Amino acid sequence: MTTAATELARNNRGAETKGRTPEQLRELVSHWGAELELAPAETIIEWAAATFGSRFCITSSMADAVLAHMAARVVPGVDVVFLDTGYHFVETLGTRDAVEAVLPVRMLTITPKQTVAEQDAEYGPDLYARDPDLCCRLRKVEPLQEALAGYDAWATGLRRAETHHRVIAPVVGWDAKKGKVKVSPLARWTDEQVERYITDNGVLVNPLVYDGYPSIGCAPCTRRVAAGDDPRSGRWAGTGKTECGIHL
Ligand code: SF4
Repeated sequence: MTTAATELARNNRGAETKGRTPEQLRELVSHWGAELELAPAETIIEWAAATFGSRFCITSSMADAVLAHMAARVVPGVDVVFLDTGYHFVETLGTRDAVEAVLPVRMLTITPKQTVAEQDAEYGPDLYARDPDLCCRLRKVEPLQEALAGYDAWATGLRRAETHHRVIAPVVGWDAKKGKVKVSPLARWTDEQVERYITDNGVLVNPLVYDGYPSIGCAPCTRRVAAGDDPRSGRWAGTGKTECGIHL
């Protein structure tokens, strides 16, 4: 980490436990967003961990464990938030279990307020087919918002190369909806960099990735895609929906 980043972390250590105000967080973003734009992913994670301490976590969809692997190396014991929507593929849950078993992380599995059965009872069966935005809000957006309440910053595996919708994902940005700093250490990574990191480090990958699912969400809303197609074209295929709302 740069000397300046180390100094900042030292000066702000007291803020780790009680958290910072939104104004203080936005100030950090305006300075460090530009400073870290071209920094290696490890340095970005190091900065976030040093700056936010226990008020920093990463999230993972368990398509692969690249971000979790890197974060665990830089910050052993780091919190990994996983949203269990109740609709995941068994392979995704298996990847979550394997990551928890082999990496030095604290896995936090978050569930929505209602089980799928309770949601079906209130809204009718298969809400995802009739109103996927509401289903995502109930099973992803709101549970994540609540899970992040005790953190000032969260890291995601977002990459600009994934689709044109993510072109503007900043490395360190202000998530106004959540009132948090959003860190995307892999934002500038290409597909080739991800593959190289996986190979070089023996990183866990969801087996579905090698079975035609380059982007993996809930089972009812994820389809296989043909080789060469937009990796995210299998998500909510045919509905016009492209994001669950977590990153909007
Ligand atoms: S991805 Fe589909 S099943 Fe999962 S929360 Fe969103 S709408 Fe519901």
